Amino acid sequence: MSIPGFLNESSTDFSIPQHRDDMERALRTVALQLGRAYRLLIDGKALTADKTFQSINPSRKSQVIGEFPCADVEHVDQAVRAAERAFAAWSRVPAAERARILFESASEMRKRKNEFSAWLVNEVGKTWREADADTNEAIDFLEFYAREGLRYDGTHAVTPVAGERNGIVYIPLGVCAVIPPWNFPLAILVGMTSAAIVSGNTVVLKPSSDAPAIANRFAELMFSIGLPPGVLNLVTGAGSDIGDALVSHPRVRLLSFTGSKAVGLRINELAARPQPAQRWIKRVIAEMGGKDAIIVDRDADIDLAASGVVASAFGYQGQKCSACSRAVVDRAIYAEFVEKLQSLTDALRVGPADDYESDLGPVINERAMSTILDYIEIGRREGRLVSGGGDALPDSGYFIRPALIADVDSDARIAQEEIFGPVLAIMKARDFDQALTLANDTEYGLTGAVYTSDADKIERAKREFHVGNLYINRKCTGALVGAHPFGGFNMSGTCSKAGGRDYLLLYTQAKSIAEKIID
Ligand code: NAP
Repeated sequence: MSIPGFLNESSTDFSIPQHRDDMERALRTVALQLGRAYRLLIDGKALTADKTFQSINPSRKSQVIGEFPCADVEHVDQAVRAAERAFAAWSRVPAAERARILFESASEMRKRKNEFSAWLVNEVGKTWREADADTNEAIDFLEFYAREGLRYDGTHAVTPVAGERNGIVYIPLGVCAVIPPWNFPLAILVGMTSAAIVSGNTVVLKPSSDAPAIANRFAELMFSIGLPPGVLNLVTGAGSDIGDALVSHPRVRLLSFTGSKAVGLRINELAARPQPAQRWIKRVIAEMGGKDAIIVDRDADIDLAASGVVASAFGYQGQKCSACSRAVVDRAIYAEFVEKLQSLTDALRVGPADDYESDLGPVINERAMSTILDYIEIGRREGRLVSGGGDALPDSGYFIRPALIADVDSDARIAQEEIFGPVLAIMKARDFDQALTLANDTEYGLTGAVYTSDADKIERAKREFHVGNLYINRKCTGALVGAHPFGGFNMSGTCSKAGGRDYLLLYTQAKSIAEKIID
């Protein structure tokens, strides 16, 4: 079979009436499926649990997306054992067959793109455009990792030695616990799960408790394509209740986590402690938070920079690890730039995510809303509130007006702590030197951008701006699979570079084989 080169999935142009109608229809179809009761999926069997929890539409608090079982520690053990049994066969399935599952899943998801996006609109409050981008990225991961799985297959050449036939092969590790966040509940979940599966590992997937319906949709799709039972096991329930049992299970070989710094560090620490009967050092892939900065230099195209900062800060309500939460602006253009930010921000429409007209939807839940509003209050004391600030919006959901806080010092809490909401701290820099110092003044190191027309400053930023994903004269969100391998430095994580050519190495171990040639 000849496989075309990888290309990113195109976004849907909702300004075309037909595309809008299609999405409206998908939203109506999904609305009819809300409120269902779900099951755990372990070894191909659908199981109930004693307790359940609900997933809620953040645009309409009264709307239940679904009712999900709270797995207990016993279920976690069953799921890990099932994955371990399935590993014996799955690890020997030819790479071409494993890749086929991913290619066919991608093709099915492409056919049902609006349906998947509609689930994202409902369950996590993504606007149409953001939901479409999430689904496209999920398709990209499937397509990209399928090709990568084929590339790593077989024996790879090493330095030749006379009298020996030598090579290296990449073999799977075993049971992989996949623990994704809610903010890219399709793309990140699909990326981590499909990377593990195509490499020959088996998976216990514990989705975020804010996005379990989307995880179920993906599991259903994979099984409909022919993924054998036990290769993917889905356990829902609070990370605080079952996370430790999953992470410390002696038969789990690797952990693929994306989420907050606090949980990532806990997983890393717990996974490092060997349990009785454990035979390996667990591998931990942990992608965590960010406090991402955009530097706007005095030589920048100010309009381009202002729209880039607003898109990076407030896309998906600022709930992206890559979101710009600090704008570091040269004092020569500071006042003008803040004014431009203000007029762009004030023009943003906040409303229900299923309304095509909304630029921003709700934040994910009540706890996030209260944390973000607290940070805005802190920001009022630490700087000057220029825009937004949580004024009244329909209280049917968790809506917050995007907030701009100017004149913030680098040691302020809102300049150091990840807020994960629509709040931008604006800082004034004396010159480019100080701008770089301020941008690097964080424990994180995920994304960053620089707007300038000065070639020397661009070169300096390439050398001195210490982030995993650096963007020049463009926004710092919207990494594309294949084009912008993604992962951060320092407390932003293990720099796994999701969507890059090294990623599958993390899900495999290399076996070097030297064979003496006997005539
Ligand atoms: P989170 O609270 O850390 O949760 C992430 C996942 O971990 C969820 O599935 C959660 O389950 C689970 N979990 C919670 N406690 C656990 C424990 N003790 N053991 C094992 N698992 C546990 O993060 P989030 O709020 O979902 O996501 C937002 C965070 O993710 C932000 O910090 C953001 O920057 C980061 N993020 C990073 C990247 C990146 O690539 N660097 C990408 C996206 C998001 P429950 O939902 O049941 O608690």
